[in-house]
Amino acid sequence: MIVISGPSGTGKSTVVRRLLESSPLIVSSVSMTTRKPRGSEIDGKDYFFVTEEEFVRKRDAGEFLEWAVVHGNLYGTLTSFVDEKLAEGKDLLLEIDVQGGLSVKEKRPEALMVFLMPPSWEELEKRLRGRGTDSEKVIIERLRNARSEMEHAERYDKRVINDSVERCVSEIAEIIESRCSDHR
Ligand code: 5GP
Repeated sequence: MIVISGPSGTGKSTVVRRLLESSPLIVSSVSMTTRKPRGSEIDGKDYFFVTEEEFVRKRDAGEFLEWAVVHGNLYGTLTSFVDEKLAEGKDLLLEIDVQGGLSVKEKRPEALMVFLMPPSWEELEKRLRGRGTDSEKVIIERLRNARSEMEHAERYDKRVINDSVERCVSEIAEIIESRCSDHR
């Protein structure tokens, strides 16, 4: 199990997509969320999109390995999904926020924890603004969240700087390879 966290704007999605393309053994966890689907997102592939009632019902039934409120929406990792993929012998990648990552680590101490860092604050702010999809209020909120997320970077096993996607992906692939080959 591999947890990848890092502030929004660090390029997590791109890095995760490239890692998934790099090996058929690596698969992505599909989280459940109460956020509305964006653009081309597909239910069951990008996320399991559910109502708040359904999410709360599952949470109260203890179906989540971890869950958290991120930017005002609920997100959670289903224990059943994780255990199915692990039973198939896959390396399972969880792209989740820091609160969720740390609770996974508590329950599954063997999880490999990778924290993705932006090259600098200036670069992070530039990337968040460059997306052009968020309002100023959302950008400020994300920068504030980024500061508090970065405070937990030290609690992750590895910190990797996303200065160039190629380099960053190959560094993470090497970390996964050296760690996961011990568990196969
Ligand atoms: P987005 O809505 O942009 O897809 O994701 C927003 C944030 O939610 C990202 O930081 C992502 O890592 C986090 N996230 C996505 N799925 C989960 C999950 O299952 N659990 C937790 N704790 N965070 C998640």
